[in-house]
Amino acid sequence: MNKIKISKLSKSFFTLRRGKINALYDISLEIEPGSFFVLLGPSGCGKSTLLNIIAGIEKQSSGEIYFNENLIASSEKNIFLSPKERDVAMVFQSYALYPHMTVFENIAFPLKISKLRKNEIMNKVNEAAKILELEKLLAAKPKELSGGQRQRVALGRAIVRNPSLLLLDEPLSNLDAMLRINMRSELKTLQRKLKLTTIYVTHDQTEAMSLGDKIALIKDGKIQQIGNPDDIYNNPQNLFVAKFLGSPPINLFNEKFLNSFQNKMEFLKNHKNFIAAIRPEQIKVIKKNNGVFNAKIKMISSLGSEKIIYLSAADEHFVVVVSYEKSLQEGEEIGISFGRDKIFLFDMKTERRICT
Ligand code: ATP
Repeated sequence: MNKIKISKLSKSFFTLRRGKINALYDISLEIEPGSFFVLLGPSGCGKSTLLNIIAGIEKQSSGEIYFNENLIASSEKNIFLSPKERDVAMVFQSYALYPHMTVFENIAFPLKISKLRKNEIMNKVNEAAKILELEKLLAAKPKELSGGQRQRVALGRAIVRNPSLLLLDEPLSNLDAMLRINMRSELKTLQRKLKLTTIYVTHDQTEAMSLGDKIALIKDGKIQQIGNPDDIYNNPQNLFVAKFLGSPPINLFNEKFLNSFQNKMEFLKNHKNFIAAIRPEQIKVIKKNNGVFNAKIKMISSLGSEKIIYLSAADEHFVVVVSYEKSLQEGEEIGISFGRDKIFLFDMKTERRICT
């Protein structure tokens, strides 16, 4: 189990066509031993580059990486341990199993390379196969397996030599929706069982929220916020974080609209030049004229366990999530209410959270 510390790490690429590309700026973070850490962000934000730098596949332009107390990469001190010396295992989106080898041979491959004795290889592969429930498939070739089974073989190959760090780059994105959900819980259970420090890259916020002990949300090569899932969902430090997490996404209201209800939200008097945001599940639908303002129901989508209500008030359009039991009609006028602590204000210019 490794504790990872990344200090002031930056990365630029130089290409003939695009010139200098700043992929990462001043990244600092710490990962607790045995924890599941997720790097989350939109396409091109730099998460794979960061993972590759931690793996030792790519070199940073500046900054340092420590595994426990050991400095394993430093541009300033010209120290770069190889992936093998770092003792990391990596699983990519395309898990690239060897098609001509059986499941057993695929999982055994890294052990063979390390020249372990035959019976030791046998024991370790059997142990990994047991954890991953692949025991009955050890003689099969990859083409005979389902996507989820192949994914488990790739994981088996990664964990069989008990690496000090497991790096996963969008490993579930090739799977269909149902299998992804199953694999998520399997992956988390496996990680907990092995207590293996794991870094997981994804652009999928649901995946990040359901897997991560901690999440670092990245945008344009910069960390926006680091925290546990509840923390960054319920306490976003800027507008990007608030908007990136949540489905349906957070509702935004403009200042002019809300200020017309200042008598009911006195605290707004103290603030200027803001965008307000409220999560769809934090808004209550009540009787007309009983809330902060009235709104009209434009559309209702039933999702089984809950309903998504699309509303409008003046020029504002927003969404509320209610229980399936709530009886509402399209075209109905209703009242809207929410707790004062459920409304986030962000500075219009800097997009940073304003303390209210
Ligand atoms: P995705 O989710 O689409 O894989 P990402 O968040 O993992 O995206 P990166 O692959 O880390 O993003 O890329 C970050 C930035 O660095 C992008 O602008 C990308 O074009 C650039 N980049 C990555 N690798 C190279 C490279 N080898 N040469 C030049 N630019 C690169």
